[in-house]
This record gives sequence, C-alpha cells and structure tokens, in this order.
Amino acid sequence: WVNEEKEIHCDTVIISTGASAKYLGLDSEQKYLKLGGGVSACAVCDGFFYRNHEVVIVGAGDSACEEAHYLSKLCTKVTMLVRRDEFRASKIMAARVKNTENIEILFNTETEEVLGDGQVVTGVRVKNNQTNEVTDIPSTGFFVAIGHKPNTDIFKGFLDLDETGYIINAKPGTSKTNIDGVFVSGDAADHVYRQAVTAAGTGCMAALDAERYLAAKDSTFEVSTPSYN
Ligand SMILES: Cc1cc2nc3c(=O)[nH]c(=O)nc-3n(C[C@H](O)[C@H](O)[C@H](O)COP(=O)(O)OP(=O)(O)OC[C@H]3O[C@@H](n4cnc5c(N)ncnc54)[C@H](O)[C@@H]3O)c2cc1C
Repeated sequence: WVNEEKEIHCDTVIISTGASAKYLGLDSEQKYLKLGGGVSACAVCDGFFYRNHEVVIVGAGDSACEEAHYLSKLCTKVTMLVRRDEFRASKIMAARVKNTENIEILFNTETEEVLGDGQVVTGVRVKNNQTNEVTDIPSTGFFVAIGHKPNTDIFKGFLDLDETGYIINAKPGTSKTNIDGVFVSGDAADHVYRQAVTAAGTGCMAALDAERYLAAKDSTFEVSTPSYN
C-alpha cells in the first residue's frame, strides 16, 4: 500500500528502506545538522572535512570508540562525551580510545547545546551530570555516534529481523530474506558497513536475485545480461 491510497501487486519485492542515525534531538543539533554546518552522524564519511580541527563526539559504544579513533588520526583533538561513568564498548575498543593521546574522554558528561555562529558549529556546551558544572568546548565539528535504527518496523512479524531490527539475510552472501521472492539491499540489512557503495553493491545483488527468481517462476521471463560496453 502506498500512502494508504494505492495497492500495488507484484511478483517480487526489494526492500531498501535504509537505517536512520539516532540523534540527541537538541534544537541546536538539528539546526546545524540541517544547515550542513558541522553536525554529522558519520565520522568515516565526514571526518575529512575536519582535518586539523578540534571536534567533539558523543557516544560510548564500539562504534563511537571506532569513530573517535578514526577522527583522532585527522583532527588535532577529539573530545569524547560519555554520559555514564564507563564505556558500553568492549574492553579492547575502550582501551584503544583511552590510549590515544589526542582523545580526551569526559565521563558523566552530557551535551547541553551545540554552539555556533548561525552558520557553522563553533563549540559544544556540556554539563557534568555529577557536579552540574557547565563547560564550553571549542569545536568545529559535533559527531553523534549513539547508534542507528533500521527503518524496518513495517516488516516486523513478516520478515526475520535481528534484535536491533536489521533484516536477516536468510542465505548469507545473497539478498534473500526468509520469504521467497522478498529481497533486501542496503543499510536495512547491514549494521556493519552502512556505506553508499556497499548499499549500491547489495542493490545490484538484489536486482539480480529478483530477476533470477522471476525467471525461475516463468520460463518466458528474460534475465538481462549485464553489458560492460
Ligand atoms: C551524514 C551521512 C553522510 C554519509 N556519507 C557517506 C559517504 O560519504 N560515503 C558513503 O559511502 N556513505 C555515506 N553515508 C552512508 C550512506 O548514505 C548510506 O549507507 C546509504 O545511503 C544507504 O543506502 P540505502 O539505500 O540502504 O538507504 P537510504 O539511502 O537511507 O534510503 C532509504 C530510503 O527508503 C525510504 N524509506 C524508508 N522507510 C520507508 C517506507 N516505509 N516506505 C517507503 N520508503 C521508505 C527513505 O525515505 C529513503 O529514501 C552517509 C550517511 C550519513 C547519515
């Protein structure tokens, strides 16, 4: 059903609904995110723009540690904000961050506001949730690494999902789901890479799998041969 108005029937479906990055939800964060002025949820994608800058990253899991470490190789200083008094990350990832000279970890610290000049981020106002002390950290980038949510709620109860909601590939190495004729590509089934190039690759796999599925159902259906001319 499209917009609860139109019913479409089909012989095969490819799901590519992606995954949405989680944000803190602060007005200032959303403002600079929309302006493209220094808020990002992907260090690997946007880190390069902050080469030789000071940045702040929020998060405490494995992904946050990995992204902080990645940023530390590009930026002069990375301040990592951890809400609790410990990491949620594995010991090895936490140790890697702790042992990196230009990463400063602020535990028990929450983001109050992303500061800016109306166009770009200039700092981050943080509060220690134990002492209530408020500090402004100079920064041109604010990275949010608090997880992603796959856009798969509508498939709950129909398709096999993992505990976070990512669609499970019924047969690893293919785009097949647990339902015959339903295929998945991109971030909706990928909690590891979540990149445009991997999404495009699995999109190609899903297209080929769907074509082969249709051809197997109907001998008059022609599978297109990729042309590289
Ligand atoms: C800030 C940022 C920067 C990035 N930069 C890079 C980069 O430099 N290089 C790189 O390789 N990757 C980058 N990525 C990652 C890349 O954007 C994703 O990996 C890629 O877009 C995933 O493609 P996808 O088709 O799976 O999902 P998406 O591109 O997210 O597309 C999903 C689509 O499905 C739609 N949709 C969702 N639910 C429904 C529904 N119920 N019904 C109908 N439609 C629905 C959505 O509106 C959306 O249009 C970046 C990501 C972010 C957040």
